[in-house]
Amino acid sequence: MKIHEYQSKELFSSYGIPVGRQILCYTPSEAVSAYGKLGVLKVVLKAQVLTGGRGKAGGVKLAGNAEEVKRRAEDILSLTIKGFPVKKLIVTEAADIAAEYYVSYIIDRNSKSVILMMSREGGIDIETVARETPEKIHSFPIDPFIGLPDYLARRYAFLFFDSMEQVNALAGILQKLYRLFMEKDANLAEINPLVATSSGELLAVDAKMTFDDNARYRRPEIEALLELTKEEKTEIRAKEKGFSYVHMDGNIGCMVNGAGLAMSTMDMIKLYGGEPANFLDIGGSSKPEKVVDAMKLLLDKTQVQVVLINIFGGITRCDDVAIGLLEAFKKIETNIPIVVRLTGTNEEEGRRLLENTRFLVAESMSEATRMAVQTVKTNEKHSAS
Ligand code: GDP
Ligand code: MN
Repeated sequence: MKIHEYQSKELFSSYGIPVGRQILCYTPSEAVSAYGKLGVLKVVLKAQVLTGGRGKAGGVKLAGNAEEVKRRAEDILSLTIKGFPVKKLIVTEAADIAAEYYVSYIIDRNSKSVILMMSREGGIDIETVARETPEKIHSFPIDPFIGLPDYLARRYAFLFFDSMEQVNALAGILQKLYRLFMEKDANLAEINPLVATSSGELLAVDAKMTFDDNARYRRPEIEALLELTKEEKTEIRAKEKGFSYVHMDGNIGCMVNGAGLAMSTMDMIKLYGGEPANFLDIGGSSKPEKVVDAMKLLLDKTQVQVVLINIFGGITRCDDVAIGLLEAFKKIETNIPIVVRLTGTNEEEGRRLLENTRFLVAESMSEATRMAVQTVKTNEKHSAS
């Protein structure tokens, strides 16, 4: 579970990690009055979206007067960053940056522990540093029984600084961030950049935290920060209906019984050059109500251009599935092509029932997949010409 920068900074602040004052705003005029309230000359406006790389996308801007604040706020609030429309931003005091560093705690599956990662190359994408100059990233596994006592915190802090004042300040930040990470069941706590200002103070200029979903039940204060994306809301709705559903970015909606079959259906789609819109396992039964629910889920997605129904009839018989589909589609109105592949018990009977209906019937999985992919390609050709 992800939270916004301003929420992470509120947590930082409550643990004594220094952050600049910030005000959350939803409109340009709110941003202007926030600028007045902060009462400083220079501020930074920052898009609050649940994704990184905002700076590069134009979501982080300096402003030095009210007019500029208004214009920058308008610009930022009209952005969509990596698919996330910007609905809010923070206005925060601009830091006078002398140097930028990277600090984070993550869970490392290789060492089966939390590790502290530090780099003097802050402010830039850490993946880039890891790829191009891995020697510039230091990582230290944290023993859960020892944690981060003063002597270790100071030892690590010497990596960035020589002055005892700054070493102690950083050591304190490292310890507080570790405590926050542990006490809130986080799986990431990242400061990128942690900056030293020209007067030597340390400040978390950016803050990113994610939390373990399996621990949410015991962290109500974290759960309260949860802001679901449209896709996550759909996934929860699907779960309530008893489906395994995962949203994806393609345009072929899949309705499959069994997780293994769902996986191989997606592999097949990819093999033939298509892109699945989802992973949907409807489970054992093929009752018409279930099919109706599943189709509603799929058709709710504007990007779905064709639906591929891939059913293996084991205990559920294919003729029952066919009857279920026919029943269900009396209640569903859609022009979207539906490809059906039925295999297993009573498959011939099943297919016969679907002959000369609105369904495109395929015999094999590869035939069905090719039909679905072909439908999308034809659509694309038509919309292009
Ligand atoms: P991200 O791009 O989503 O990671 O957003 P960040 O909060 O990390 O901001 C990106 C970059 O903008 C930082 O690395 C800084 O170089 C710059 N920046 C952010 N806040 C300030 C600030 O208060 N003062 C100055 N001078 N630069 C800032
Ligand atoms: Mn950052």
